[in-house]
Amino acid sequence: MHDLHTHSLCSDGILRPQALVSRAKMQGVTVLALTDHDTVVGLEEAREAAQVEGIQVLSGIEFSCLWNGIGIHIVGLNIDPEHPEMQAAVARQGESRENRAIQIGEKLAKAGIPGALEGARAKAGDAVIGRPHFAQYLVESGRVSSMNAAFKKYLGAGKVGDVKQVWPSVPVAVEWILAAGGVAVIAHPDKYKMTRTKLGRLIDDFTEAGGQAMEVISGYQTPDLTRNLAQIANKHGLYASCGSDFHVPDQPWQELGNFSALPPECRPVWELWS
Ligand code: AMP
Ligand code: MN
Ligand code: MN
Ligand code: MN
Repeated sequence: MHDLHTHSLCSDGILRPQALVSRAKMQGVTVLALTDHDTVVGLEEAREAAQVEGIQVLSGIEFSCLWNGIGIHIVGLNIDPEHPEMQAAVARQGESRENRAIQIGEKLAKAGIPGALEGARAKAGDAVIGRPHFAQYLVESGRVSSMNAAFKKYLGAGKVGDVKQVWPSVPVAVEWILAAGGVAVIAHPDKYKMTRTKLGRLIDDFTEAGGQAMEVISGYQTPDLTRNLAQIANKHGLYASCGSDFHVPDQPWQELGNFSALPPECRPVWELWS
């Protein structure tokens, strides 16, 4: 059972890589990809834990990108995290996250919420800083009642704290992944709320750059959506990936290994390396 999209506390998840691997094993996952946002620092610990647990761990990453003004996530699977281009990419994304955090802090301050950058930094600790850390601060300082509300009011698409201009284009992220020997995958295509036509254009730009796969399954989803995405993947000649997008243990719709199998008409992305 493959789960090829997961997060640890190295980005915005809450489990240590080692605990993530143990939980994956418990959940019946046999091949796990750790795909933290814009970082590879958790991979060594995950691979060591995999040896102890007797499951396979693939090195992965989830890159933040900007395409036609829309924030898009591109997953890299089976990458070499030590590759100089990957190391440079991760360094650049880290700087972008720092710059973005400063901008988000300034924008929130102007909107009447001072101290958010410091608050988010405290939440992030050693992790790469992201919007969820701002969201946690907004919840804990009583500005909003939930993480969801924090995104809805301040951090989600089009809101004051949604700063995206720092991210690379999709082709650039695909090139980083290819340089590091990996397979590039369009993450959770349904989350972008694009029309089918627009998604088709994104896929065209992605495949032209060398991208080869798309997530046909992302956590819990309706059979209707699965059929649609399988059809789109096949139409564009893309391999299909599947993953939970696991972040925290109390969300059954994003639990490790807790999703349906790829439809039989799909070509599984792991055919590319096994
Ligand atoms: P960032 O990578 O810093 O741009 O933050 C994006 C992350 O925020 C996503 O990967 C999700 O984990 C999280 N996220 C997005 N929308 C929501 C939401 N409505 N509620 C809670 N977390 C969210
Ligand atoms: Mn996330
Ligand atoms: Mn994502
Ligand atoms: Mn993710």
